[in-house]
Amino acid sequence: MNTAPEVSAMQTTPRLEIRNLVRHFNGRAVVDDVSLRIQAGQVTCLLGPSGCGKSTTLRIIAGVEMQDSGEIYVDGKLICDTDYRVPPERREIGLMFQDFALFPHLSVGDNVAFGLKGTKEAKRARAEELLARVDLLRFIDGFPHQLSGGEQQRVALARSLAPRPRIMLMDEPFSGLDNRLRDGIRDETLSLLKEEDTAVLLVTHEPEEAMRMADEIALMRGGKIVQQGAPYNVYNRPVDHAAVAFFSDTN
Ligand code: ADP
Ligand code: MG
Repeated sequence: MNTAPEVSAMQTTPRLEIRNLVRHFNGRAVVDDVSLRIQAGQVTCLLGPSGCGKSTTLRIIAGVEMQDSGEIYVDGKLICDTDYRVPPERREIGLMFQDFALFPHLSVGDNVAFGLKGTKEAKRARAEELLARVDLLRFIDGFPHQLSGGEQQRVALARSLAPRPRIMLMDEPFSGLDNRLRDGIRDETLSLLKEEDTAVLLVTHEPEEAMRMADEIALMRGGKIVQQGAPYNVYNRPVDHAAVAFFSDTN
């Protein structure tokens, strides 16, 4: 558990800031005035029950979904509002999802280097560096099917981090994994993320995951962020009865 000062108390320009994001589907606001600030080196967990609008928020930040209103800033620079939009591939955002499959026909090393710019040697060197950090360098010339689910997940993480994204968006990245493996991979992922100069927004419906990984938790319900703060504070000072119920529900 992390009891670092809350992001809002810091004065530096956030790596990622979203202001007043709104998105309707069929006349219903599924993202309803969501604002967040995340510093480089910080992990914020967007935590809430299924259907509360977490993935839609993430998809808007990634640029694959459009907001009805609101703005997104990276390092203080506007990248998206209703009139102006930097395309997804130019946002320097890394993505990781539960079913973010590796390319089966590419070697593990080529999977990690996929999409990198530069010489063949430079790309190989970056793949080696990241695979060493997830302790899978020995598989660099192997293929995804030779790896376990947990190992494939670590390769996917290495691949997302290879281009040095300014922001990492992770949508329930561990939910496909065996319970037995999950804690270890969560811890390993966290330490790797902390070594990179990136701001992390991690979506989860599991309080335990948010408590384990977050510097800050943004508790979401019905499209709104209902409470935000350090994990310890959110857990110990729940905003209402629904928050108590959500945290005590073991899923
Ligand atoms: P979460 O990730 O928290 O489970 P989502 O962001 O996926 O929630 O979905 C929030 C709500 O928006 C849900 O009710 C979902 O059915 C609805 N929704 C999401 N995407 C679409 C879409 N493309 N068209 C219509 N409704 C959608
Ligand atoms: Mg979702």
